[in-house]
Amino acid sequence: MKHFQKILLITIPFLFFSWGFFAHQKINRLAVFTLPVEMIGFYKKNIQYISEASVNPDRRRYAIPEEAPRHYIDLDEYGDSAATKLPRYWKDAVAKYGEDSLTRHGIVPWHINRVYYQLKDAFLLKDPDRILRISADLGHYIADAHVPLHTTKNYDGQLSNQVGIHAFWESRLPELFFNEYDFFVGKAEYLENVQLASWNAVIGANAALDSVLRFERQLSLKMGHRKFNFETKGKQTAKVVSIEYARSYHQLLSGMVERQMRESVKMIGDVWYTAWVDAGQPDLKVLIDYKPTEEELILRREELKKWKEQRLSNPRAHETEGN
Ligand SMILES: [Zn+2]
Repeated sequence: MKHFQKILLITIPFLFFSWGFFAHQKINRLAVFTLPVEMIGFYKKNIQYISEASVNPDRRRYAIPEEAPRHYIDLDEYGDSAATKLPRYWKDAVAKYGEDSLTRHGIVPWHINRVYYQLKDAFLLKDPDRILRISADLGHYIADAHVPLHTTKNYDGQLSNQVGIHAFWESRLPELFFNEYDFFVGKAEYLENVQLASWNAVIGANAALDSVLRFERQLSLKMGHRKFNFETKGKQTAKVVSIEYARSYHQLLSGMVERQMRESVKMIGDVWYTAWVDAGQPDLKVLIDYKPTEEELILRREELKKWKEQRLSNPRAHETEGN
């Protein structure tokens, strides 16, 4: 029984495979403070929700089969320099590889763009619940796209004898060192092209992957048995990576975790802001205390649908939505 408990404790965090709950909540929360004055009131009022709901997409993975591929992309499945060669837009990617194959290897860069359009629609509808729900989701996917191990099929070091590195990098390290990070990232800025920005995030994360794996391998050889400690919580004892090991690894990465978290925070603010601008900068202050009725929302959804149909029938006004 004792043995079983140990295994359980060590295994649980690895099941989530995305920034730990701690990091996701912090990242979404911090993104609120990048927003301009026209937006920040509404987001601050709902900051508790924005931060707690940041982990909803991970919770859905157990219930909804199409959820999992939205969190990663196994670039190495596509051969050398895939990060720069893969089609930027979903339609082109589907034409080249087919939807099944894309889904098998993960779709995070395209999914971010899709959710950006959903957020823009939510702003057009002035539906506060929808704005919040989609903003929180979007924050999650953007943050995931910044995790180096979310860009490889060797996502938990299982192919390089480094099992456990996933949760170590994205849960343990931010939990241990968060207080040493500087999160002043400046104000949210308008993105000309959210789809290309998503690719930039993935390319940046993938460029860091080699260091993530190599430094851990070197350190593990160097530190040997000092890699692990036994930690007791209540009646349970678990074998965990030692603080000494975590700190050494964190130092070798020279600010990588902080950098990836900062970039996540900044890009989330940027995409929220861009969606709001692209929806015509609706007045969010009125949404702080006002909730439209379901009838109003149905009416607005119909209007939006009609407007989109009209726009689609006029090809010159059509924009590439990438989905
Ligand atoms: Zn995730």
